[in-house]
Amino acid sequence: MVNREKNKKEDFAEIVEQLNKISNTKITKNVSKPDNKLEEENNALNNNLKRMEEENFMLKEMFNKANAELNNIKKPALLVADVVNIFEDNKAVIKLLNGNKFYCYFSQEIKNLSPGDTVLVDQKSLNIVEKVEVADNFEVEKFVIIEKPQENWGDIGGLRKEIEEVKEVIELPLKKPHLFKQIGIKPPKGTLLYGPPGTGKTLLAKAVAHSTNATFIEIVGSELVQKFIGEGAKLVKEIFNLARKKAPAIVFIDELDALAARRMETGTSGEREVSRTFMQLLAELDGFKHLDNVKIIGATNRIDILDTAITRPGRLDRLIHIGLPDAEGVLEILKVHSKNMNLEKVKLKELVKEMENFSGAEIRAVCTEAGYFAIRENRSSIDQNDFLEAIEKVRIEEDDEDHKDIFG
Ligand code: ATP
Repeated sequence: MVNREKNKKEDFAEIVEQLNKISNTKITKNVSKPDNKLEEENNALNNNLKRMEEENFMLKEMFNKANAELNNIKKPALLVADVVNIFEDNKAVIKLLNGNKFYCYFSQEIKNLSPGDTVLVDQKSLNIVEKVEVADNFEVEKFVIIEKPQENWGDIGGLRKEIEEVKEVIELPLKKPHLFKQIGIKPPKGTLLYGPPGTGKTLLAKAVAHSTNATFIEIVGSELVQKFIGEGAKLVKEIFNLARKKAPAIVFIDELDALAARRMETGTSGEREVSRTFMQLLAELDGFKHLDNVKIIGATNRIDILDTAITRPGRLDRLIHIGLPDAEGVLEILKVHSKNMNLEKVKLKELVKEMENFSGAEIRAVCTEAGYFAIRENRSSIDQNDFLEAIEKVRIEEDDEDHKDIFG
């Protein structure tokens, strides 16, 4: 009986064990593996979804940006104007860049609007849309040449009388202002140097800046009106402010005729722009702000077309003619430019005869060319023949230039 019971128990245990074995293998082989796969697939699908959502988001962003850009491009441009006056009830007088003034409205949302502010106005209604911050400081220093020149009186050949005149008008008032106070006269504000190209006008201006240790601020008339369209008048104002700050200073305006040429009428906007710049220059010359330590030197090759307003008393009323050098002048200029050259039996006096009507710049070119002739022949010194060939070369080049000027 006991044995049968025991056998039964053993059988049962065996069956249970076998069942367990079967169920274990079923669980591992048939159920757990497909679950993992599904999970993996699920994960991959989730990742894909995430990526596509991100992509979708990015595309939406790009679309919105492009749309906004398109809308901006479609919008009409706004005009830039200066506020002249502010009145009650959000009204103001504005001045456009072409000088025209308008009475217009501005929104209550624009706070702290005051005369002198720069604003954007609607093209059609000319009402003020918004105020813009324009840097007060024009960074004028980026647009002009400012230097302490090294050229001195010794670098100038000839021009003795002219040097004396420049000294009297520019150097003396800067170096000895008390002399003028004692006597009770006001020194000239500046001078106008006129004459053919390359005769040393810039050189004179630089030499007087050197001798007075003044800051040399150079502007070129043609650049002022071509490069800085709409800004010329402002630039002139800033240049004079800068000169006062850096005083003693010399403001050198080359090609003054581009700015101060006589005009029959001021019809086009370009002409109006030039005349506004010129008016600003006159205003600076006449202005109340002191110019004691600031001298103005104008230079031109075309005095014949100059507006006489610039040379009226109290402005650039001292005219100094800088002409082509005479024989003595040519010799002196030759000496200046050949002083560091290694010359071999060169008779400068004889060369002078060949250089009639040469400007200082051409004489300098002759010296450089003569040096090149020697270098080409591997010589370390320059002889008379190098100079004669150089003179010929410079003369031919000049003739070609003249020919181009006449026939284009
Ligand atoms: P532009 O009217 O074309 O501006 P410019 O009269 O101002 O000419 P500069 O620029 O002063 O002439 O001269 C050009 C160069 O020619 C000078 O840098 C200098 O080397 C030389 N030069 C001109 N005149 C003289 C001179 N009298 N003595 C010595 N060098 C001179």
